[in-house]
Amino acid sequence: MTQTFQEPEASPALLLLGRRTDPMSERGVDCPGDLPEPSDPDLVERAREAKNALGNRVFILGHHYQRDEVIQFADVTGDSFKLARDAAARPEAEFIVFCGVHFMAESADILTSDDQAVILPDMAAGCSMADMAGINQVEDAWAQLDEVGIAARTVPVTYMNSTAAIKAFCGRHGGAVCTSSNAEVALRWAFERVGGVDGDGKVLFMPDQHLGRNTAVLHLGLGLNDCIVWDPRKPLGGNTPGELAAARVILWKGHCSVHGRFRKDNVDALRASVPAINIVVHPECTHEVVTSADYVGSTEYIIKALEAAEPGSAWGIGTELNLVRRLANAHPDKQVHFLEDTVCFCSTMNRIDLPHLVWTLESLVAGNVPHRIVVDKTTQEQARIALDRMLALPAAEPEKD
Ligand code: SF4
Repeated sequence: MTQTFQEPEASPALLLLGRRTDPMSERGVDCPGDLPEPSDPDLVERAREAKNALGNRVFILGHHYQRDEVIQFADVTGDSFKLARDAAARPEAEFIVFCGVHFMAESADILTSDDQAVILPDMAAGCSMADMAGINQVEDAWAQLDEVGIAARTVPVTYMNSTAAIKAFCGRHGGAVCTSSNAEVALRWAFERVGGVDGDGKVLFMPDQHLGRNTAVLHLGLGLNDCIVWDPRKPLGGNTPGELAAARVILWKGHCSVHGRFRKDNVDALRASVPAINIVVHPECTHEVVTSADYVGSTEYIIKALEAAEPGSAWGIGTELNLVRRLANAHPDKQVHFLEDTVCFCSTMNRIDLPHLVWTLESLVAGNVPHRIVVDKTTQEQARIALDRMLALPAAEPEKD
């Protein structure tokens, strides 16, 4: 069977992506140099030449959600944690060009040696979810939890998609980092430190409320009522002392602007129009979407699910559009449908385009190191504690539906 992947309709705002500043981003900065024009017909050749000139001195990482025009130059592709570990396994590479977003480059800087420069081709490539948990907000929330007598029996856990400062906070306060693949193991570990899942200890889960809620309810067996949301703009996060005392999981009010767009309506519409369709979504989707899907898992899980799928089977996929489009191209014997009805890119990651990559590589050839991401030593050491706690966790069970 030939796949019939249909591109969702583009919104005019997307025409602006990848160039100039993003006024809504803290990191809305322009490139200091002269970016090549996107219409330059020699961009591919220029990228190839610069990469060849740098040889083993450069190692290019491409996140799964990155544009095709950039991914073609990636030495490895993967999710954020895999890429950071891949970078650490290449100590001979002087320059790590991270085609992802800011927090990913920070993690790579933490895991690589001081001699390696981690570079983000566009400093405006931030993650809206990571930006939803500022370190001052989190410190303030912790102080409030302390005032109501809860902090001492609360373990902070942060998703990989957070700033180095938040990971360091978790390192300082007995907590850990988790990924979307091992969130269940990390939450169980955290609860064990405060009396177990059946005790009265708590986990403060940051910054993605949906991953925290989905994991707590679907994998740990807690109820939706055991989870409350902490809104950093409100006193006590918008909760009463009694609600905080009764809660088991305090969910930071953050979400992914890509995965948060999918709706149960999208699932229902695909089921109604495509017979026997399998719906697979990322756990950053809302609880309603996740519970209406057939399968739930990380990007790596989704990729493997498509690889293992029967020829002729139909799949509705709820994750970033660049990845879904590549899966559709890689599996022409399967029917691949995008879950949303409009374009759903990670707009900040998509700021890194071929002109930015060419500019970065040519700058390196010329002896300039642009947009180096440097995490200060103290933050590195404390974040490393939280990352090492995650690495010491038992291996996660293979993800299931
Ligand atoms: S897809 Fe979502 S979580 Fe991932 S980088 Fe983009 S905004 Fe952040």
